[in-house]
Amino acid sequence: MPHYCWGERLSSTYLILSLCKRMKGLNSIGEDKTPKVSASKNDRRCISCRKIAPKSEFWRVVKCHPAKQIAIDLGKTLLQGRSAYLCPTAECLQSAQKKNRLGRSLKAAVTEDIYHQLELLIN
Ligand SMILES: [Zn+2]
Repeated sequence: MPHYCWGERLSSTYLILSLCKRMKGLNSIGEDKTPKVSASKNDRRCISCRKIAPKSEFWRVVKCHPAKQIAIDLGKTLLQGRSAYLCPTAECLQSAQKKNRLGRSLKAAVTEDIYHQLELLIN
């Protein structure tokens, strides 16, 4: 039997084995995962790129109620009011600023200071 046949056999056997392992892994993950978390419940959409992700991955900018003051929610205090979500990236921040997406989304004027504060949050 030519050598390459062995090679093929070995590699296909290996492929099947690794597939089996993967499937087993998937099964056990499926079994272990306890409550069925509804994925969309805590998901938010970025006002710039429209990406959907858990709200913990976004910046939250809030028009506080009733003061109507714009503030960045850093998670330390619970800010009530109309909020907009933005990816913590320079791209989304710039696009939000250029197109006044934050202002439009919050229906309020967003000062340069807010954008500057967000800029400082980018690592
Ligand atoms: Zn984004």
